[in-house]
Parts: sequence; C-alpha cells; structure tokens
Amino acid sequence: MSSEELKVAELVKRSSGRVIAFTGAGISAEVGIPTFRGRDGLWERYDPEELATPRAFRRNPELVWRWYAWRMSLIREARPSPAHELLARWESEGMLMGVVTQNIDGLHREAGSINLVELHGSIWRMRCTSCDLKLDLGFGRIPEEIPPVCSCGSIMRPDVVWFHEPLPSDAWSRAEELMGKAEVVLVIGTSGLVMPAASLPLMALGRGAILVEINPEETNLSRFARFRIRKGASEALQGVNRYLGGIS
Ligand code: NAD
Repeated sequence: MSSEELKVAELVKRSSGRVIAFTGAGISAEVGIPTFRGRDGLWERYDPEELATPRAFRRNPELVWRWYAWRMSLIREARPSPAHELLARWESEGMLMGVVTQNIDGLHREAGSINLVELHGSIWRMRCTSCDLKLDLGFGRIPEEIPPVCSCGSIMRPDVVWFHEPLPSDAWSRAEELMGKAEVVLVIGTSGLVMPAASLPLMALGRGAILVEINPEETNLSRFARFRIRKGASEALQGVNRYLGGIS
C-alpha cells in the first residue's frame, strides 16, 4: 500500500460524502474490455470514422450494428471489477455521491451504482432513428435482428454518443450538478482526451474541488490532480479501502 492511498482515504473520509468518481475505459480494461487508445486499444484495429459516427451509420447501418454486437458479446462476458464494486459500496455507505462515467458498458450499474450518469449512453439501450423511442435491452442481451427495426418501421441505433454528436442534455446537466457539489473528484481510468466529458473534472476543480487521479499512466489531467495513484483502478481503490476502515 502507498502513502498516496492513505492520503486519499483521509480525504474521502473528511469530505463526508461529497466525493464523485469520474470514470473512463480504464476501469473496465481490467475485466477484459478494450480501451480506445493505447496498446490493444480499439482504435488500433478499427477506424472510428468507419464505425462510430452518424455518417458511418447512415452509410452502412448493418456494419456498424455488427461492430456493436461484437462489442456487446465481449462486454457480456465481463463482470464488474473490484473497482466498480467498491464505488457502488462506498455510495451505499454514504461516502460517495455518485459516479459520472464515459463508459457505455453498463458495468457500474451491474455493480450496483445508483446515482450514475452515463454521459455517452449505454450499449444496452437502443433508440429509433425516426420516432426516438428508447428500448432497454438489459445487460447481456444482443438484438437478434440486425439492424433492429422499431415498431414504427424505422431502424434502431445504439443509444450511445458517436463522434461529432452532442452529449444528451439531461446527462450533461446531472453531471454538472454533481461536479458542482463535489469536494473531491476521483478521476479513474480516463485519458482525459474526449471532450466535452473531460472538462467536467476541471469544472469541479474550478469550483474548489480536489482531483485525485487513478491511472497507471500520465494523462492530460495529471497536472491538475493533487494526488496521483499510478496503479490499476482495482488495486488502487482496494488500497484506499483498506485504510478507510482504520480511519474514524
Ligand atoms: P481512453 O481509451 O482514452 O483511455 C483509457 C485510460 O485508461 C488510459 O489513460 C489508460 O492509461 C487508463 N488505464 C488502462 N488500464 C487501466 C487500469 N487498469 N486502471 C486505471 N486506468 C487504466 O478512454 P476514455 O478516456 O474513457 O475515453 C474514451 C471514450 O471511449 C469514452 O468516451 C468511452 O465512451 C469510450 N469507450 C468506452 C468503453 C467502455 O464502455 N468500457 C471502452 C472503450 C471506449
């Protein structure tokens, strides 16, 4: 265990619940879901412009859906990591206000997080390209028909945010509200490169919050963090958790 983990545990305890976790693909990398960037990242093997844009979908909805179905088949084999589970536990114990995630994999919800903002949508939900009807598939359920068709006759799309698309305004407002209340933001497993999501911890910083970065590597956000734990998400949060028990 490191002294950084002890300091973060003290900070979490002192902040009496005004703690938010801001997570990215790195928190799910430990359970086998590829990140976008870095070694073995999805963009090493696929061209985002071919697959994760509204234009790509208009051009070839079946190809885009096949890519999403493949990603769904990887994700449904995964279970929440100890990091996902600890965040849910800290929330239930009143130490964490909520989680704002960039991930679409549904693992925070599976772990039991309740006050959860999924900024980029969910791979387990789809919505109609015409009438906007939303359909929850439920974790692990891949549509049988590809591309899936809505009861109105139009095709459905994954309810996720693609490149060149704005974030859903309700998710953004909820995230801003949480960031506005936070005294501490645990920035876990994100490169901090995807905007506007990555501006949220900086917004909290501007309002006086302390940033803690948990990431084995240096990122765009590192220089803004008061504490940096250079470990994987689960090892780092388990370390913090061990100290939490001993602080009254
Ligand atoms: P990113 O791929 O840009 O960066 C991942 C970060 O995680 C890197 O900084 C890396 O050093 C770090 N990391 C790797 N292993 C880690 C570990 N064990 N513990 C902690 N950190 C670790 O991901 P991003 O910043 O989330 O941005 C990418 C975008 O991709 C997001 O918008 C997200 O919607 C999407 N995405 C989501 C998933 C998912 O839902 N699981 C997967 C890939 C991409």
